[in-house]
Amino acid sequence: MKQEIGKKRIIIAIDGPAASGKSTTARKVAERLGYTYIDTGAMYRSVALKALDQGVLGGLRNSPEGVSALLQDISIRFDGDRIFLDGSDVTAGIRENRVSREVSFISSLKPVRDRLRVMQQDLGRQRGVVMDGRDIGTVVFPDAELKIFLVADARKRAERRYAELVAKSPEGVDLPDLDLLEEEIMRRDRDDAEREHAPLKKHAEAYEIDTSDLTIERQVDIVYHLALEKEVKGQ
Ligand code: C5P
Repeated sequence: MKQEIGKKRIIIAIDGPAASGKSTTARKVAERLGYTYIDTGAMYRSVALKALDQGVLGGLRNSPEGVSALLQDISIRFDGDRIFLDGSDVTAGIRENRVSREVSFISSLKPVRDRLRVMQQDLGRQRGVVMDGRDIGTVVFPDAELKIFLVADARKRAERRYAELVAKSPEGVDLPDLDLLEEEIMRRDRDDAEREHAPLKKHAEAYEIDTSDLTIERQVDIVYHLALEKEVKGQ
């Protein structure tokens, strides 16, 4: 196709607080551009799930150095929309609320961040990726050609998370109430923004987009068109 000639495949970093629309936007933008989508939150969630399943979380709170045993030989692999931890499909498991509650603690540990950062940089080396998280534009790929920072009103974010849970949960399963979800989301944002290593922060060059009143189609369109401009500029 004529318009493809001379275009450069770029790296798109999408950061922002919990449930701000990052993963849906990133996935759809990647689809439209023919890029690979990488969900770095899923990687941190996988480490948290491993710590929970091994029953080592309490111990780590007292002596975080123990995390090196957890990271030794860990394998995290994406296959399309699925994520595999040490060979097992954990796509559903990492979304459980018990994981959401513990993941900020796990992701505040420096050895965890160091290990996952290297994995993420390896995954992005091929370029043509859309990566979402908290520190992609600031730490993992500070040279990403396009940096986006998505924000949204906390209540709206809780409502979106609630709708997602309703859609995904089998009938009869108890769901957390909206106020509790909002509280948990706000606590996670505070923990992510206040931690010492690679806190949630907007890069000075990032485009900030408030998605509170935007449809998914609109937010995807905005990021997609910014990406097209950067692809051409980067040639
Ligand atoms: O994106 P998601 O909400 O699934 O991320 C789960 C958690 O993983 C975040 O609350 C944050 O603590 C951590 N995270 C991070 N750095 C990233 C991505 C996620 O610390 N790049």
